[in-house]
Formats: sequence, C-alpha cells, structure tokens
Amino acid sequence: EPELTGDFATLMGWADQVRRLKVRANAETPLDAKTARQFGAEGIGLCRTEHMFFDDTRIAAVREMILADDEAGRRAALAKIAPFQKADFVELFTIMEGLPVTIRLLDPPLHEFLPHTEEDVQAVAEATGLDAAKLLRRAKELHETNPMLGHRGCRLGVSYPEIYEMQVRAIVEAACEIAKSGKAAPVPEIMHPLVAKGEEMKYLRELTDRTAKAVLAEQGVEITYTVGTMIELPRAALRAGDLAAHAEFFSFGTNDLTQTTFGISRDDAGKFLGAYIDKGIFEKDPFVSLDQEGVGDLIRIAAERGRAVRPDVKLGICGEHGGDPASIAFCEKVGLDYVSCSPYRVPIARLAAAQAALAGK
Ligand code: PEP
Ligand code: MG
Repeated sequence: EPELTGDFATLMGWADQVRRLKVRANAETPLDAKTARQFGAEGIGLCRTEHMFFDDTRIAAVREMILADDEAGRRAALAKIAPFQKADFVELFTIMEGLPVTIRLLDPPLHEFLPHTEEDVQAVAEATGLDAAKLLRRAKELHETNPMLGHRGCRLGVSYPEIYEMQVRAIVEAACEIAKSGKAAPVPEIMHPLVAKGEEMKYLRELTDRTAKAVLAEQGVEITYTVGTMIELPRAALRAGDLAAHAEFFSFGTNDLTQTTFGISRDDAGKFLGAYIDKGIFEKDPFVSLDQEGVGDLIRIAAERGRAVRPDVKLGICGEHGGDPASIAFCEKVGLDYVSCSPYRVPIARLAAAQAALAGK
C-alpha cells in the first residue's frame, strides 16, 4: 500500500504548512480514492462518472440506455443503472469521510459507449431482449463525424434530462444514506461538463436543484450540496459571468480547454506535435504543461469575470495540468482555490503548491 512515511512525510508536513492551494485528486474507483487519501488528498476534485459505466457487468445497460429511441426506453435502462450508481457514490463518500467530492455528471463522447461491433450489438440484444436490427439502426443514427465536438457533456443532459436526474438522485440518495448512518456527512459538489452558455447552466442548475430537493424531502435529511461547472470551452471562459450566476464553483478542464483553444485534437496531437517541438514552435506539449499565454489567459479571464458576479465562486483545476508544477505555480498566481490531479501526483502537487506559495511571498 502506498503511504508516506519517515522523512518524506516530514517534508510533506512542511509543504502543507506553507501552501495555500488545496490539493485534491481525480478519482472514481475506491482504490484511487484510498490511494489519494494515503497521499494526502484533501478531497476528490473530479469523479468522472462515465468511467463507472464501462464495467463488463454494466455496459449492456448503458448501451441500452444510449440506444433507446424514446424516453420510456431510456428510463427503463436507467432504472437498471441507478442502483450501482448509488452504491458507487456511497462507497466513495465513505472513503472520503466528509471531505468534498466533486462528481461530474456523464460526459462520454458518445462513440465511447456506442457498440463498436455487431457482436456488441448482439450482446445488448441478448441482455435486453431488444431487437438487434433496431439497435444497429439506432447506433448508426447516433454515429458522429466529430464526437469530441458533438453530443457529449451536458448536451446529453439537455437532450436526455432523465440521465442527469438519475445521477443527481443517486448522488443525493447516497449522501443521505451516509448522513443517516451517523457518519460524517458528505459534501457533494455536483458538476456539469462542457457547459458553454449561461442559459445552459441555468437549465442544468434547475434540473439539479429540483431533483436534489425532491430526494431530500423524501429522505427527510438535510445535507449541503453545491452545483458548479467545468470550464473547458473558450466561450465558457469568456462568458464566465453568465455561468457564475448559476454556478457555485468552476473547475478548469484544461485537457478540453487546451484542445478547444488550440483547435488541436487531444487524441491526435502526438502525431504532429513532435515536429513543432523539434522546430521550437512549441516549447512544451501544451497538453502536459499549461499554455500560460493562451489557455492561461482564458483561465485568468474566467476567474475575473466569474468573481465579478459571484465573489466567492470556488475555483479549481482538474485537467492533467493540475499535477504539473509549472502549471500549479500559475494556479497560485491566479488565486485558484485548489488543484486536482491523479492520486500518484498528489505529493508532487503538495510540494509544488508550497513552492508556488513561497515564490509569491
Ligand atoms: C478536461 O477536459 O480537462 C477534463 C478534466 O475532463 P476530461 O479529461 O474527462 O475530458
Ligand atoms: Mg473534459
């Protein structure tokens, strides 16, 4: 088991005394959450719920939900997904013992969930009793030319609100279950992905509050939750004031924000970025180290415009850059509240946050 002991633990203790930035981890499995805590994470900054859907025992229900051609079909499939979603959150909240947990609602580029082969379709047909030919037709209809800019993120929640309702319900039910058991009440932070517009955020916020309030009334429990958004599109950064009117926190998704600011596919950059680095056009891979002039400018603008509308809007970063020391120094300068990175980078982030704080003194 990973654990910080001896001189390393002492060094980390010193770092913690001087750093201002909180350090959280990106985690969705119990193992990652436990590792994160052993390394000193102060919460989960990003739980990517779509990662909870790929398990062999779950994927058929997920595909059934995505391929359903009407709301009734989706609701039937969601009813199969809801119990394991709730159980997942109970487990995470239990491990995190009252620390904040940012749960991001479903954000798959749709193609990740579509059946890839006829065998996949056959498996869904067998698991659900639905007609394979019909499922195949629907999969073809849903196919996208450019899935990363397509029907993903909160766009799924807008087209199919019942998906996000199921997730919000699972989060709040799980939190109530923990609170009722007498353990430290969790602090869920419900986060919407790929938001671009204030009206989108307003719609999602209302959906979230409506659903959460219904669960709290049913359960007769009071728990605190907050609602926020990822900032991963240039428009979201530029119009952050519109989003802050309906969001209590922003988390900068710098993987997508880098992709959308440069117009460079995060999945294909490796095919040509080497030449750019060799020729000195790029100093570093912008997907690893924050492009402080471009993407960083957008972060600075979003922080300013968000705070102008909601002075206490909580700000964090949860892209890969959240574990990169130079990027963490930038986060300190902009005055973000926390960085979130993969569990194994938490110690590096704690040190980098301390160095950044000292450098600013
Ligand atoms: C991001 O875009 O930076 C992010 C954290 O979300 P994901 O990597 O899941 O797209
Ligand atoms: Mg993203």
